Amino acid sequence: MLQDARIVAGFTGAGISTESGIPDFRSPGSPWMRNKPIPFQLFLRDPKARREAWRRKFTMDDLYRGARPSAGHVGFASLVASGRMPAVITQNIDGLHQEAGLAEDQVIELHGNGTFAKCLSCGRRHELDWVRYHFERDDDPPECMVCGGILKSATISFGQAMPEEPMRRAQRLTAVCDLFLVAGSSLVVFPAAAFPAFAKENGARLVIVNREPTPLDTAADLTIHAEIGEVFSKFIA
Ligand code: NAD
Repeated sequence: MLQDARIVAGFTGAGISTESGIPDFRSPGSPWMRNKPIPFQLFLRDPKARREAWRRKFTMDDLYRGARPSAGHVGFASLVASGRMPAVITQNIDGLHQEAGLAEDQVIELHGNGTFAKCLSCGRRHELDWVRYHFERDDDPPECMVCGGILKSATISFGQAMPEEPMRRAQRLTAVCDLFLVAGSSLVVFPAAAFPAFAKENGARLVIVNREPTPLDTAADLTIHAEIGEVFSKFIA
């Protein structure tokens, strides 16, 4: 199918990063499920909620530090380098596709990026180490160093609008591809999970690589229930 395809869309979820040591969202014992999410509106209006969100962020952040791309990330980077996969649409926030060699414009981040912070007013990027230094010193998150606005991890939180440009780019790629390749997603988080179904309806072939079944398996042209590293190491150039 890869050889036949003209344009391949890549689509990844948290499962591609478990072999990098970052737990996925839904597998048993997930640290992500320990706390009830803090909705975006609460984060905006309540300084206590913001402090708690940042405290959790720095606890979880220790999971990312030092994480290296898995064979899955490297396999996707090889597919992009081959010229037939213009970009990888990802639900992940860990930046590991970029670490594996993809350029910023070759990764479409639907849920943002958790490796830095952004000002909610002026959009200025702030490094996490800087935020953490001030947070630990003052027991409170700092304000934006440019405009004094609220700083938030550059991820999309529960209740926050999806980012327009990545959504547009993902829609475009999904519409033009003739093969849509999913790896490591339970395909239950919407609107992200709508992309593979849309690709299929639009005439593309759909391939799903995941260790357990997903709701779209019956619609797929091929499902591979296996470890991502095992499957994608075959594509590493
Ligand atoms: P999910 O946790 O719902 O699903 C991951 C799927 O991958 C599961 O079905 C699991 O069985 C499978 N899987 C795990 N490791 C695998 C492996 N080595 N080989 C094959 N399959 C494997 O993840 P999702 O669908 O991406 O949705 C979760 C949400 O949580 C997303 O919105 C994402 O932003 C966020 N999240 C991101 C990260 C990250 O950036 N690494 C980590 C956790 C959660």
